[in-house]
Amino acid sequence: MKIYIESQVPNITSTDAFQYEVINILNFPRGWGKRHLWERTKIKLKADYEINLVTNKYITNKYGKKFNMLSCAEVGGRHAYINVERWTNGSVESKLDLPNYKIYVINHEVGHLLGLNHPTDDELQKIPPGSPCPVMVPQTSGVCPHHLIPNEWL
Ligand SMILES: [Zn+2]
Repeated sequence: MKIYIESQVPNITSTDAFQYEVINILNFPRGWGKRHLWERTKIKLKADYEINLVTNKYITNKYGKKFNMLSCAEVGGRHAYINVERWTNGSVESKLDLPNYKIYVINHEVGHLLGLNHPTDDELQKIPPGSPCPVMVPQTSGVCPHHLIPNEWL
């Protein structure tokens, strides 16, 4: 998979730094690296997907107030937008520390690009207690069910 990665907030995180972290997360064998080889491209037209680091204001302007402080991606689409507020500060609600939160948010949003939706409550209730929370649960908002353990990997 070819991926175009850019920071639109270079005063906070440079594109180089963002690219480095994202591509390492994507190619890790416990993440989407088990399904695909991920390569950076500097040419948008050659990319299968684009991941942009953007401000919270960019996300709420584009997708509305319900996405305040969230990252988002189009299911089966081309673009993922990572919220720099979360990339910098993480999510207390997720119960993941910042390095693990970053892994989580990339794996989650890229899962959407690959066509995955959030699991239903019924699907989550069938998972045995003490299991890892599926990465496609929106853990940023702290909605991982109590019987599951916060989890950043596939
Ligand atoms: Zn989601």
